[in-house]
Amino acid sequence: ATLKLTDPELLRSECWLASGWAGAEQSFAVTDPATGLEIARVPRMGAAQTERAIADADAAFPAWAAKTAKERAQILRRWFDLMTENADDLAVLMTAEQGKPLAEAKGEALYAASFVEWFSEEAKRVYGETIPSPIAGNRLMVLRQPIGVTAAITPWNFPAAMITRKAAPALAAGCVMIVKPAEQTPLTALALARLAEMAGIPAGVFQVITGDAREIGGVLTKSDLVRKLSFTGSTEVGRILMEQSAPTIKKLSLELGGNAPFIVFDDADLDAAVEGAVIAKYRNAGQTCVCANRIYVQSGVYDAFAEKLSARVAQLKVGAGTQAGVTIGPLIDDDALAKVETHVEDALAQGAKVKLGGKRSHEGATFYEPTILTGVTQSMRVAREETFGPVAPLFRFETEDEVVAMANDTEFGLAAYFYTTDAARVWRVSESLEYGMVGHNTGLISNEVAPFGGIKQSGLGREGSHHGIEEYLELKYLCSAVG
Ligand code: ADP
Repeated sequence: ATLKLTDPELLRSECWLASGWAGAEQSFAVTDPATGLEIARVPRMGAAQTERAIADADAAFPAWAAKTAKERAQILRRWFDLMTENADDLAVLMTAEQGKPLAEAKGEALYAASFVEWFSEEAKRVYGETIPSPIAGNRLMVLRQPIGVTAAITPWNFPAAMITRKAAPALAAGCVMIVKPAEQTPLTALALARLAEMAGIPAGVFQVITGDAREIGGVLTKSDLVRKLSFTGSTEVGRILMEQSAPTIKKLSLELGGNAPFIVFDDADLDAAVEGAVIAKYRNAGQTCVCANRIYVQSGVYDAFAEKLSARVAQLKVGAGTQAGVTIGPLIDDDALAKVETHVEDALAQGAKVKLGGKRSHEGATFYEPTILTGVTQSMRVAREETFGPVAPLFRFETEDEVVAMANDTEFGLAAYFYTTDAARVWRVSESLEYGMVGHNTGLISNEVAPFGGIKQSGLGREGSHHGIEEYLELKYLCSAVG
């Protein structure tokens, strides 16, 4: 399959390292999840190239850190401009390798760029502090300095945004970064690298290495020179990376799994709740870490909500992301589809009912029909695990206390949503949900100015917002006895 790109140079088959574009003896195929067909091949790099990238990053760090914040800001601003100008090409690449509908892919390209814009601005606002001294004559100050060499390991569900959300604050702070993108979606990462090259980001400051995840991850975590790792992906792999980072006491940012509750109270605006649920559940075919995984509906509106939701979801169109009007693309691979099927089978075996969908789509092997299940209970797998597919399980509840307890009954704590028109309840429920992010009367909460991140086993640290750059800065306290 040939991709129609305005700038064909954005389709890369080599890694972007300090020495320039580099291949390897071995390569691996990048395939289109809608068809299974090969789109391109990228290098399968391993330990040796990773060691080299770390050494080169370390060498590039002092000059990058020594640039003025304004200079770094200007370079990042150019990267942002190039991402915006090339958003259509980035979208074509993303739809090809990840599957999401073209309009959603374009949305992600702009969302990804927004982090670069934001942190290019934040670069200039890394303020220090002066502290009134308790000892006469002393001057106390706090400097904020870049951590140094950093690494990012990113997932396939947001091939562009999960990179810029890490790289932009890192580079803005004066850090350098090596990115290991997901093996399913390296082409978007390499296109971002091409744009970084065009923007004039100096050699070694931003590198993208593709290949063996375990081998590359092993070297990145083991290295003393790599001072910080930022990872987005499964809790399972996050735990492994955390363990591997222990010997070097590496700083970590972890964006891990979620199991988002979406609560609809009796007093909610049902039409608004339906729209919010469609966005929070079916965006990216249900493959986001903030996707509504459990939909709790109060008994007074349960049947009405189920009817309205199924009328609305029946309008969603399944198909390849390149087709006009498609709103639900393929799942990333056969395993993803198998997991969805297992979750639905388990729920049905335990007494749930299919309200809509509930089976594979005729569109192809990786397509699943948008599904609604009713009569779902806490003991089913859909309640305990992230389904990561287009399945909305509807749970019935009676009281606020009961639903808050059910919502919090998970080891995860990333995003939660609730719909109510009762102002006092807004505060009560917001404060009692054990989640890093809460959406009230909305199913879409993420943007570059707000802190994204989870509590409990959903991770460590925050991305985006003015907090996001802190993850790449160290505080240095200076006590000066000047007399
Ligand atoms: P998902 O379930 O979304 O694929 P993963 O956690 O498996 O999430 O993958 C997220 C990222 O972590 C990808 O870039 C993948 O290559 C990488 N990865 C997976 N296993 C390891 C590992 N053992 N060490 C380092 N990176 C890994």
